[in-house]
Amino acid sequence: MTPYLLHQLLAPGAAGSPDRIAVLGRKRSLSYRELDQASNRLAHRLRQRGIAMGDRVGIDLDKSPEAVIAIYGILKAGAAYVPLDPRAPARRAAFIVENCRMRGLVTSGDRLARLEPALTAVPPCVILLEADAPGDAAALEDAPAAPPPDPGLVEQDLAYILYTSGSTGEPKGVMISHRAALTFVNWAVDYFGLRPGDRFANHAPLHFDLSIFDLFAAAAVGASVALVPPAVAIFPRNLADWIEESRITVWYSVPSALTQLALHGAPERHAYGRLRLVLFAGEVFPVEHLRRLTGQIPRAAYFNLYGPTETNVCTVHPVPAPLPMGSAPLPVGRACANTEVFALDEQGRPAAPGESGELFVRGPSLMQGYWERPEQTQAVLLPHPLHPERPERVYRTGDLVRLDQAGDYHFLGRRDAQVKSRGYRIELGEIEAALYRHPAVAEAAVIAVPHEEFGCTLRGVIVAREGHNIDRGDLEALCAELLPPYMIPAEFQFRAALPKTSSGKLDRKALQQA
Ligand code: AMP
Repeated sequence: MTPYLLHQLLAPGAAGSPDRIAVLGRKRSLSYRELDQASNRLAHRLRQRGIAMGDRVGIDLDKSPEAVIAIYGILKAGAAYVPLDPRAPARRAAFIVENCRMRGLVTSGDRLARLEPALTAVPPCVILLEADAPGDAAALEDAPAAPPPDPGLVEQDLAYILYTSGSTGEPKGVMISHRAALTFVNWAVDYFGLRPGDRFANHAPLHFDLSIFDLFAAAAVGASVALVPPAVAIFPRNLADWIEESRITVWYSVPSALTQLALHGAPERHAYGRLRLVLFAGEVFPVEHLRRLTGQIPRAAYFNLYGPTETNVCTVHPVPAPLPMGSAPLPVGRACANTEVFALDEQGRPAAPGESGELFVRGPSLMQGYWERPEQTQAVLLPHPLHPERPERVYRTGDLVRLDQAGDYHFLGRRDAQVKSRGYRIELGEIEAALYRHPAVAEAAVIAVPHEEFGCTLRGVIVAREGHNIDRGDLEALCAELLPPYMIPAEFQFRAALPKTSSGKLDRKALQQA
């Protein structure tokens, strides 16, 4: 049977190569049989505890084999999984739990103790999966093998919700169906010629759409995925050693991680004989850093992938070897299979070669919408601007691109105040909303300051209420309570006023230049 649901990808591996390693963690690994059976048991347990088709079940776990069991268990129960950022403050996680009305939560005792005080109500079904402790996790292993439940899902059903930064101050949940995720996974398997002998590295956190590739494309071909331990990921030299020792063949991450590896990982200490594919996405890869990396790891093939969480990956560009001279950024390339992309200029006309415009995407990989945010959904999922009679919706990316003579798209920047820092997607408005909670803040703006290695760093610009002095430590503490670490401004500047446009809005351009 050709899988039409994400968790069905496990079945051929579990039947055909049950002892092959599916997931390699720091403390333990899971074979295909173990992952399949443990997730079947979790699925039954969730259903016994009242989880039904379409329910949202959160995962609040550090990246671990248990978290992967949770993903498959939740999907097999017919529910949608919602991965929480383990590094985000409890208040932000609690917002997500409540926003999508989670019916269930798979977590650990420690993490629950951290989250619980921030919740108004704990989800009705909480399952603890501790890596090394008795309890639910052990029971998942001891219970006799059972086939998975059959909740009767179809491919259009919701598979997961990924929360991403929201310009209004609250994160928004991108709803992805089984079909949308599989469209991307199936394309990736074919396009990159992925195979059972591959070993994928999972570098991205589970609440990032990059991890969809590592987890599910590996499963689709019965390959192994090794979870990059967070402590290793921080130190580029350790990461370089880990890639070699873990015999990684397929790497996928944001460019910032690869820049760190190229600049500080001394990867020339290794031969990287097995690493055959290096894929990157999520932000511009400065060509000088990419050049250094390709010099250090010359045998691998490199690909630039592009796509917002809302569309999965939708374009790809094979990086030429050798890289062209100069420092012009690489194109983001052309549409993936089953996907169409096009750019429209400000008058709504298709951009011709040489022209620029905003990028639109259509095809089965698109999100269903933002969880319970009809207005925000309608603002980006639009009737086809050139064929409004068609029933389908197209996604308006907010990304400005230029089409070149060869038919490749080049990323030029954003139309709005969304930025990338170390590959993290950040709406400056979300940080500003946090800063406005300080009682002495009269006005707040956040700007992105270009940074050689991280894409950008963040600067908060603050106008204090008359007669008030604001301590930057207080602002940092406020941000730490509300925002994940990567959204906390690295510096603050205090001013008497913020520049405004003629219509009285914040003039970001002027602020950026000042
Ligand atoms: P995310 O939803 O976190 O994947 O972020 C999506 C945004 O990241 C896109 O809308 C682009 O602005 C940017 N982006 C993604 N891939 C690339 C790429 N290969 N090159 C430049 N920018 C990218």
